[in-house]
Formats: sequence, structure tokens, C-alpha cells
Amino acid sequence: MSLGEFELIRAYFARVAEASSDASVILGPGDDCALLQPPAGQQLAVSIDSLVEGTHFLPGTPADKLASRLFGSALSDLAAMGAAPGWLTLALSLPASDADWLEAFSRKLAELCLQYRIALVGGDTTRGPLTLSAQVHGFVEPGLALCRSGAKPGDLICVSGTLGDSRGGLEGLLQQAETDPHQAWLCQRFYAPQPRIHLGQQLCGLASSCIDISDGLLADLGHILTASGGLGAQIQVDQLPLSVALQTRYGEVQARQWALSGGEDFELCFTLPADKRASLPEGSCVIGQVTTEPQVELFLCGQPYVSPSRGYDHFQSDNQESQ
Ligand code: ADP
Ligand code: MG
Repeated sequence: MSLGEFELIRAYFARVAEASSDASVILGPGDDCALLQPPAGQQLAVSIDSLVEGTHFLPGTPADKLASRLFGSALSDLAAMGAAPGWLTLALSLPASDADWLEAFSRKLAELCLQYRIALVGGDTTRGPLTLSAQVHGFVEPGLALCRSGAKPGDLICVSGTLGDSRGGLEGLLQQAETDPHQAWLCQRFYAPQPRIHLGQQLCGLASSCIDISDGLLADLGHILTASGGLGAQIQVDQLPLSVALQTRYGEVQARQWALSGGEDFELCFTLPADKRASLPEGSCVIGQVTTEPQVELFLCGQPYVSPSRGYDHFQSDNQESQ
């Protein structure tokens, strides 16, 4: 980008890299490539995520909130594979080199890199419309990665945390109602999703399939069912985990709807063989069961429940997300 590119990298990102580096980083930012030493015998899990202004976040979103959203969504993919975080690379397209923005963004990034033990090892910085991409690299024992394709009829369908909060947070931002304490909590869920790294690792060798909920429960569970050979599911809508904040602020009916189809919660949805129910990790709950018939049936207190929406698809022409 501009003349300031190298100063910018040195001033804001070199120190994040230095602070988060470990023995696996032979050579960090500054050369044409980073040189990295993967742990012996481990497989590498790699994924990249982008945030585009106007598509994934509202113009004017504070830089620290962008950092936590980018970080949470990127590391969530490692969590969903059961991988341990290793290395992070960052591609930034910035409209200007704004010192306050860079300070806030890099400070939050450093905090999260240290918290989740992931090393910033390189990136690319250009001038252009605000777009942030994070590539993550993690490690997993050969054969133990959690794939989408392993669900079997009869498996229990489970989710972590509470669902729909992120969608509720977005609603508050659109209505500019963040001052309500419940709404503030929901906005935090939207801006700072918690990647379930520890849970993912606990599920290795236990869960038969796993995905992180980015497009909405029904859409993402659909990916598991399709990848597992065209299976179906029965979901007990009354078992969906809902936060007090979401129910209080938007009511049970709307909360359930967002739990089913609101995206970007970055909780894990996984399937568990029925005989492993006693091993269900704390903080997760059973919401249904995998079936042979290739359709998803929803029940509310034993009665069929009709859902108006199935999640968010970026390339669908008539996107009708949730509601
Ligand atoms: P090249 O032209 O060879 O791609 P660059 O000039 O883009 O190299 O980057 C110089 C060095 O700075 C590289 O090692 C790159 O990984 C690193 N880098 C660039 N942007 C960032 C960033 N935002 N965070 C961390 N490292 C970065
Ligand atoms: Mg470059």
C-alpha cells in the first residue's frame, strides 16, 4: 500500500507477532514467508475467514470489536475440527492508515492471541475497501479430526452454549438499543464470539461429527446431515438452549426462531452416539436425534413445529434471513 506500509506493520503487528510467538515459529513476519515447525506426527488444520464492511459488519464498527469478531469466527473453525490453535496470518485491506484504528485493532488481537495461544506469523497489508481476513492453522492427531461426515442414524444432536444471541445482538445494533443491559450482553455475543476450542478438543474421539454454527442451526445441521450421506433429524425446539437475555428482550417465540436460524453464534453443533450420552461435556445439551429419513422435523412439546426460515446463504438472490 502507501509508503507507510512497513512502518505500519512494524508499529502495530510486529509486536503482536513477538508477544504471541513460541518455539514453533522459526521465522515470523519480515521475510517473504514465515518458517514454521509443526509438532511431530500431527496433522495441520487450515481455514480462512473474511469480514467485509457492509456485508459482515456495519460501517463505523469499532476496531476492537472487528478484531474479536474476526478472531472468534476464524478460531471457531479450528474448534469445530477439534484442532489446537497454532498459527495465524492476517490479510488487511484498509482505506487509510488510521493510528487509532490500528492501535485498537492490534491491541485486541494481541490480547486474544495470548488468551488462545495462537501466534501471529505473517500477513498482507494493502490499501482498499475495509476487508479483514484471518487464516488459522491448528494441529490435530491423525484420524481424530471432527468431520461433518460421521453422523449415524440414532446419534444424539447436541449444541454448546446458547443459540440466537448473536442475531439478537445484531437486532439491537440495527435498532440502536444497546443501552439495555440484556441488549448489551447480546451485542457482546455478536461482537466477541467465544471459539469453543476446549470443547472441540474434548469431543475428539467422542463425537461422530461436528460443525460450528455460522449460518444458523438448521443450515449448519443440514451440512452435517448432507455430508453424512443424506440423513435427517428430529429436533425438539423446546430443548434449544436460550439465554435469559434473549428471552427477556425478544420473547420466547422470537428467541426460538433465532436459535433455529440466526447465524454467527459460533457455538458447536455435534452428534454423539446415543451410548455416549453420559460423556456429554458440561455446557452442551441434547436437542434432537439423527434419523434415516432425509428430512428435518421440528417438534415443540411433542407437536409438529413449522419454522419459517432455514438460515443465511450469501449467494442466494432473495435472502430472507430469520424472522
Ligand atoms: P511480500 O511483498 O513478500 O508479500 P509484504 O511486504 O506484503 O511481503 O510483507 C512483509 C512482511 O510483513 C511479510 O513477512 C508479511 O508476512 C508481514 N506482514 C504484512 N502484513 C502483516 C500483518 N497485517 N500482520 C502481520 N504480518 C504482516
Ligand atoms: Mg504481501
